[in-house]
Amino acid sequence: IYKARQQLEEDHYGLESVKKRVLEYLAVLKLKEDLKGPILCLLGPPGVGKTSLGKSIVNALGRKFHRISLGGVRDEAEIRGHRRTYIGAMPGLIAQGLRRVGVKNPVFLLVGHLSNHGDPSAALLEVLDPEHNTFNDHYLNVPLDLSKVLFIATANQVDTIPPPLLDRMELITVPGYTFDEKINIAQRHLLPKQIINHGLSVGDVKISDKLLLKIASGYTREAGVRSLEREIASVCRAKAVEYADAKYKDELDGYTGEITEEEVEKILGVTKFDNEVAERTARPGVITGLAWSASGSGGILFIEATQMAGKGNLQLTGKLGDVIKESANIALSWVRAHAFQLGITTSETESKFFFQRDIHIHFPAGAVGKDGPSAGVALTTALVSLFTDRRVPPTTAMTGEITLRGQVLPC
Ligand code: ADP
Repeated sequence: IYKARQQLEEDHYGLESVKKRVLEYLAVLKLKEDLKGPILCLLGPPGVGKTSLGKSIVNALGRKFHRISLGGVRDEAEIRGHRRTYIGAMPGLIAQGLRRVGVKNPVFLLVGHLSNHGDPSAALLEVLDPEHNTFNDHYLNVPLDLSKVLFIATANQVDTIPPPLLDRMELITVPGYTFDEKINIAQRHLLPKQIINHGLSVGDVKISDKLLLKIASGYTREAGVRSLEREIASVCRAKAVEYADAKYKDELDGYTGEITEEEVEKILGVTKFDNEVAERTARPGVITGLAWSASGSGGILFIEATQMAGKGNLQLTGKLGDVIKESANIALSWVRAHAFQLGITTSETESKFFFQRDIHIHFPAGAVGKDGPSAGVALTTALVSLFTDRRVPPTTAMTGEITLRGQVLPC
């Protein structure tokens, strides 16, 4: 356990709660001395270090390691093997993996997600079921003892794991990083790694925290650090050229590893992402909402509401799913029900106000599909803002589900 803690600390910055959970899992494993426990599943957006956490665990345990990609698995035979009567028959991924590592107690890292239906998941279920630990590969046709194999799975989303499999897994969520954490990870891990990868030595490329923040915020938009690592690699590549040039011209004295802001722009080009809020001026009916995507990147989006003469219709655009459309209807009903209290209508206009106008709500970035209940509060605020002609500061973003009674639920 001591060794595992050291290894995890050494390889990863932050992630305190994740490391704690992993250590708990390993401790129980050690005490019980068998593997009939739940399978560890690291869950989180791409680039947050799931694979590299898996590798640290392997290093700490001192076991052989094999990575099995489930992404391309289409049918059962790929996991369970083909019967030998077929031409080109082969053992399945599990048997092949065991042969490759040559030991009975390796760690298998299962990456990528399995298609949700059909046979592969049933075969995998049999492999992962802690209750019966012999597995029958059709090609080998003898029971295979998997009781000493430690399986670790990684996944981006819970929804993509078939429920019976999920049942057998112990989920450890690896969340995304803040900019502050990303800069620390970059200084301590990514930059040194890339410097070595490019044949330089640590110190030959120096990037200040301020510039790393510029790279992370201006050139990447992600929960993890994969693009950040790629951009840092680009910088190292450019410096490697400069270094090699200087070295063979015998002008190393003139070489400096310090990167300037101009250099970053020269190497990486113009910034790809701008601070969207700064450009916006507040207008009634325009609200900043908070959203996240399956890739784990969170962000803001602007909800626009407008009204025009009409008959009381509600129009919604922006490639919206059913749930978000329902939220819009709930928001409108709530606003209508409370129009008098909110000062939208007076006793004279109350009966006709909503029948004289059509309302249109649009979610920009119209090509990107959006769904989920969390836009409720923002939609309600957009409508109130529109009808009362009051502005909401664009630097205030909101998220939350709303009910017909006007209750706000967390999401
Ligand atoms: P995932 O499997 O979650 O998609 P990876 O394990 O491939 O992500 O991580 C991508 C890169 O980021 C790797 O080089 C990894 O070492 C690095 N990385 C991610 N998180 C951390 C962290 N907390 N500390 C150090 N390096 C990290």
